[in-house]
Amino acid sequence: MASRSPAVAMREGVPLSELSTIGVGGPARWFARAETNEDVRAAHHWCVERGLPLFVLGGGSNIIVSDGGFDGAVLSMAVGGLATSHAGDETRVTAGAGESWDRLVDWVVGQDVSGIECLSGIPGTVGGTPIQNVGAYGQEVASVIERVTVFDRTRSEFADLTAAECGFSYRMSRFKVDDDGRFIVCGVSFLLRQSTPTLSYPELMAEIERRGIAHPRPKDVRDAVLAIRRRKGMVLDDGDPDTRSVGSFFMNPVVSVDDRERIAALAHDRVPGFPVAGGQVKIPAAWLIERAGLRKGSGEQTVGLSRKHPLAIVNRGGATARDVIRFAVRVKRAVLDWCGVWLRPEPVFVGLDGDEDVDFLKKAHG
Ligand SMILES: Cc1cc2nc3c(=O)[nH]c(=O)nc-3n(C[C@H](O)[C@H](O)[C@H](O)COP(=O)(O)OP(=O)(O)OC[C@H]3O[C@@H](n4cnc5c(N)ncnc54)[C@H](O)[C@@H]3O)c2cc1C
Repeated sequence: MASRSPAVAMREGVPLSELSTIGVGGPARWFARAETNEDVRAAHHWCVERGLPLFVLGGGSNIIVSDGGFDGAVLSMAVGGLATSHAGDETRVTAGAGESWDRLVDWVVGQDVSGIECLSGIPGTVGGTPIQNVGAYGQEVASVIERVTVFDRTRSEFADLTAAECGFSYRMSRFKVDDDGRFIVCGVSFLLRQSTPTLSYPELMAEIERRGIAHPRPKDVRDAVLAIRRRKGMVLDDGDPDTRSVGSFFMNPVVSVDDRERIAALAHDRVPGFPVAGGQVKIPAAWLIERAGLRKGSGEQTVGLSRKHPLAIVNRGGATARDVIRFAVRVKRAVLDWCGVWLRPEPVFVGLDGDEDVDFLKKAHG
């Protein structure tokens, strides 16, 4: 059955598993594609009139959908468009939320412009990037976002938010926590520069050196990042079963210096990490997971850790959302039991409000 409101066509019972990179979950009760800002507005009103919740879907690369599906409307963002302008060494790029993020990065480095080259190979849409302030290899998207154009569902109007108004922090923004569900991102404007690319991440610097590049251009950095990501199964690749994931499942925890020393004593080893604000230290979740006894490739028949990266939980074929969630609980518990650190998940859980396992996964302390 299909239902039409003035500008958006709603379909009923659309499976969501194929629309998420990890490939789990049931159907959306209602589903629509938004190709314009007016489609976004219409879908919002359609839901308000029926008292239904609305979930905004980008590339599905950071979601775990319940096996029961989503009992509301899913709006798939396909708002396109790309505009650029140059002034001096500055390049402004404005892209529709539904554009592919990695195609945008490819285009930008092709112009010899820097600012997002280290974010190469991250799946999903442009509109998905501000939600968790995507980051990798020494860059975060927040540092180049100038403006986010949103539809504000509370006020029923379009608005432009500056980067400061987005409340960005590590893998976080107001879109993900305080104002979860309030804003639909319709477009993002980036302020980029014709400058030397960012090279601060040791693994990336080593890759560039190995390639014998003395003065890397943005394109060289992109190529190096993509090579590293491929080795870790962190690009989408139909031929690589280890990419059937949401990327990193857990964020890197921030701990006190005392806690770091305590963990080092437990491990009889130096704990990797780097200092962050407030005299604390960010340590790799992947290192903790391995130390807690879960190696790359370990797990069960349908779900387990990637064979290439201990931080990715992979659907090995036939996994349900419950399999993924239970395995993630096992990982979190192993780290908690070993060293008392509460890992927190990166992906967004859809249709899983009030789920005990998910509540445990989101818990930040005892
Ligand atoms: C192989 C792999 C590697 C990855 N590597 C990285 C990495 O290096 N760094 C990193 O930060 N992330 C990484 N990710 C996670 C993911 O790709 C990013 O978080 C991405 O930005 C999610 O975008 P998306 O369009 O797929 O969003 P979705 O997964 O569709 O949605 C994620 C959340 O964003 C919301 N959302 C999406 N679009 C909009 C919109 N237009 N308006 C309002 N809300 C919206 C959704 O409602 C949901 O809450 C990786 C994932 C995979 C599978």
